[in-house]
Amino acid sequence: MTTLTEPQATIQDYAGYEDWLDSIRARTEPERAIPERRLSLDGSKNADRIEKAAILDYANACHWQPDGSCEVESMSDRRKRYIVTAGGSCNCKDAFYRTRACKHVLAALGGPVVWAIKWIRTCEAIHETMDRYALHLTICEQQGIKPEYVALLDAEYNSHLAKLGDPFAN
Ligand SMILES: [Zn+2]
Repeated sequence: MTTLTEPQATIQDYAGYEDWLDSIRARTEPERAIPERRLSLDGSKNADRIEKAAILDYANACHWQPDGSCEVESMSDRRKRYIVTAGGSCNCKDAFYRTRACKHVLAALGGPVVWAIKWIRTCEAIHETMDRYALHLTICEQQGIKPEYVALLDAEYNSHLAKLGDPFAN
């Protein structure tokens, strides 16, 4: 599989790119509701942590504290809250037993990555996938999302491209 190493080159190919980007960014909030079939507040219907993190974000379950930490409501019991630190740790069981970021950490610290992955998953064409990736990569950069979370977007992008078929094969 060929990995695209220069996504920035893609967005720079657009004339009037900034206007285009602004128009899309302005629509980002309402657009969150568009992939309805992929978004349900019932967590049991969404198996992976990206989907769960998106639900937490969508449900405004993240509550930032003055000390820089974030209290994230439990999906099963909204009165219960987990503490996510700015450094990326969480006191839930999932985070304790696994080394990867749990849904609370993703919701609190990787929101743009979570939504970018959801958008990539809805793309049905290669060029659309590339556009989405470039756009959301820029948003992640602007919002100062840490590389370890952006790496999740990279992984999703590459696997989604592979699923659609590699235009650079042969
Ligand atoms: Zn957690």
